[in-house]
Parts: sequence; C-alpha cells; structure tokens
Amino acid sequence: MRTIDGRAHAAAISVEVAANVARIRAAGAVPRLAVVVPNRDEATAWYVRNIGRAAARVGIECMVDDVPDADRTTIMGRLDQLSADPAVHGIICQTPLPAGVTLSSVGERIDPAKDVDGANPTSLGRLAAGIAAYAPATAAAVVEILRREDIEMRGANVVVIGRSTVVGKPAALLLIAADATVTVCHSRTKRLADVAAGADILVVAIGRPGFVTGDYVKRGATVIDVGTNPTPEGGLVGDVDPTVGALAGALTPVPGGVGPVTTALLLSATATAADLATFARSTAP
Ligand code: NAP
Repeated sequence: MRTIDGRAHAAAISVEVAANVARIRAAGAVPRLAVVVPNRDEATAWYVRNIGRAAARVGIECMVDDVPDADRTTIMGRLDQLSADPAVHGIICQTPLPAGVTLSSVGERIDPAKDVDGANPTSLGRLAAGIAAYAPATAAAVVEILRREDIEMRGANVVVIGRSTVVGKPAALLLIAADATVTVCHSRTKRLADVAAGADILVVAIGRPGFVTGDYVKRGATVIDVGTNPTPEGGLVGDVDPTVGALAGALTPVPGGVGPVTTALLLSATATAADLATFARSTAP
C-alpha cells in the first residue's frame, strides 16, 4: 500500500502559486484573501491560522475578519463590503455559522469572481453545467491528488460516500468531468459496503471516525479519506479505519492527506482570482 503524501503535493502546488503571486506583485498588485470567522470554534481557529501561515509563505496577504458574535445582518454586510472592495481578491466564510444563517445564504453574498472556495450556489451550478468556476477547495483537492498521483480517473468506477454541498456533491461533479463513472452514496444508501467494494477509487466524506473498514474496499483500490474528526486527545482521525491500509493500493492519511492540498488549492484559487482581476479584468476563473 502506498501512503499518499498530501504535504508533498501541497508543497509542489505552493511553488507554482508563489511564482504566480510573484508575477502579480511585480505588476503592482497584492493578492489578498479575506477570511470571515463568525464563531469562536477552536478547530476553525486552528484551520485559519494554517491558512494564514501558508498564505504568507506564497506571498498572499490573508486578512482575518473575526466577528464572533455577529448576527446575520452583520455577516452579510461584511461579505457585501468585501465583495465590493477591489483590494480583496478571494473571500471565504468559515463554519460553524450562527443559528439561522445557512451556508448557501452566506455563499450568495460572495461575488462569484472572488468565490475561491466555491460557496456561492452559482459556482456549483457552473460546475454542474461544465462552465469554468471555482470549486470548493476540498472537492478540488480530491481530484488534484488523483491527478498528481497518476491514478487513472477516465473510465474508473468511483464511489463517493457523502453528498454534502461542500464536499461530496462537487467532488462527484469534478470526477464526472474527469470522465469517471461516479456513484454517490449517503446515509440512506442500501448495501453501502457492497457498493463501495465495487470502486476502483473510493472517496469518503462522512464525518464519522473509522467508519470505512476492510469490507468496504476492493483489494488494490485507491482510497481518499476526506474526513477530519477531532479525537479527545486533541488529534485528528479520518473516516477510514487504518486497517484498510492492508487492502488498499493507495490511501490518503489523516492528517497529512487531503487537508494540506485543500489549503494549497484555496491559495491557488486566490492567486487565480488576483491574476484575473489584475491582468484580464475577467470575472471567470
Ligand atoms: P456533512 O455535511 O455532515 O455531510 C456528511 C455526508 O455523509 C452526508 O451526505 C451524509 O448523508 C453522509 N453520511 C453520514 N453518515 C453516513 C453513514 N452512516 N453512511 C453513509 N453516509 C453517511 O459533512 P461534510 O461537510 O461533507 O464533511 C465530511 C467530512 O469531511 C467531515 O469529517 C469534515 O470534517 C471533513 N472535511 C474535511 C475537509 C478537509 O479539508 N480535509 C474539508 C471539509 C470537510 P445524508 O446526506 O444522507 O445525511
């Protein structure tokens, strides 16, 4: 079994992003990502610190906008301001959101030209229509890892477990665009283990520690574990049980798999948005 090194892929992507950023800065613009944080969640704070550090390494300015007790009106107003600010190229809004505020309502307030994490339903619609769009970075990371690992997607049987708007659904759309034959499973899927065991590539995005065991995996299959579940000891485990390593052909670890590639692609999308704003004046990625 090959353990896929997400950190190495993230480092390679970051080299490309840094070169792109240097070109934009040479033209007098500073690529800038705004991160709106409407909570006091510790896991969010950890993720945002990581984004900030990774952004600094590639020359992207990361503006963290902490609004922990903000209500719906304040969050929406903030997103409107950032969308209208020409000095801001990328905007993301972190979850969890306050009660009564939905992810799609927040996404709709992000200008699609700055929607570097594909939160605006317009971006998802464009993806579905096969038009260039920013995809949610985690979904994009799934496909980017497969591409960089030279794992054939064309004609492959891919099973995605999870149908959320941020991971499962967009991952399925990107995999279809890569010519895979995709089955999307969820909590109501019957005989889930049997369906999963037919996959050449199994993508797991459920949010249940160690849920996927050996009976879900065909020998030699590639397994992409998107799950990030905090442990009581302060660590992180995936949705895939480590014993799957004995069967899989390749497996992403947690941590160190999908996570670092997600962050690198978020910054890559920010550089693209800054590039388009600086040189092309276009609104599409
Ligand atoms: P989510 O919105 O809670 O969606 C979970 C999906 O899993 C749902 O579609 C749900 O089905 C399905 N599911 C739940 N229990 C199931 C079961 N027993 N059998 C089959 N399907 C089941 O979660 P998410 O936002 O997609 O996140 C999924 C995981 O990815 C979480 O661990 C999250 O922390 C992680 N994540 C990681 C990154 C990263 O950068 N690495 C980024 C985002 C998320 P129903 O639709 O039927 O309810």
